[in-house]
Amino acid sequence: MHPDLERILFDEQTILEKVGQLGAQLSADYYDKNPLFICILKGAALFMADLVKRVTVPMEMDFMAISSYGASTQSSGAVRILNDLGKPIEGRDVIIVEDIVDTGLTLAYLRDTLLRRQAASVRIVALFDKPGGRKVEIAPDYYGFTVPNEFIVGYGLDYAERYRNLPFVGVLKSDIYATGNS
Ligand code: 5GP
Repeated sequence: MHPDLERILFDEQTILEKVGQLGAQLSADYYDKNPLFICILKGAALFMADLVKRVTVPMEMDFMAISSYGASTQSSGAVRILNDLGKPIEGRDVIIVEDIVDTGLTLAYLRDTLLRRQAASVRIVALFDKPGGRKVEIAPDYYGFTVPNEFIVGYGLDYAERYRNLPFVGVLKSDIYATGNS
């Protein structure tokens, strides 16, 4: 447990078990495809690292850093690419690896952007799905856990760049938001 957390939602073992299941599912679905896994930085970095270790078919990885403008606990949907992919993705079977889908605005933007670049297919795997926060109709093709409409941190997810290193995921205490620090 961490003193800034109100409660833990998923411990390390629970997360890793789920990531293993997602890796097995993706390996089965892409057994003949050589998919390109695109990690959306920074939030999905830990998920990506654990996920690809569980993928048993030939695959490649790339990374994209993006930022959503707006208040620090809300996505405005105005997405900016900070660091783009290393190579064209034309004809590739792309799997977007995201930490969490909340409003869906980020993923809608990313999916459209990658399809415009003529990927053969684009699917989304998100470790967490927060359906209560949706502003556009988009659902991850694969997801690990449904979470309540609260702000969560840990296992890659931050608040003001902190808590990404926690091996578990929990809900931040509300007074941390209120003061803007701990
Ligand atoms: P969306 O565009 O779907 O609203 O949100 C996408 C991004 O907002 C996620 O990739 C994540 O970085 C951030 N985000 C959304 N919900 C949460 C949350 O509960 N905790 C944290 N730390 N980030 C979140």
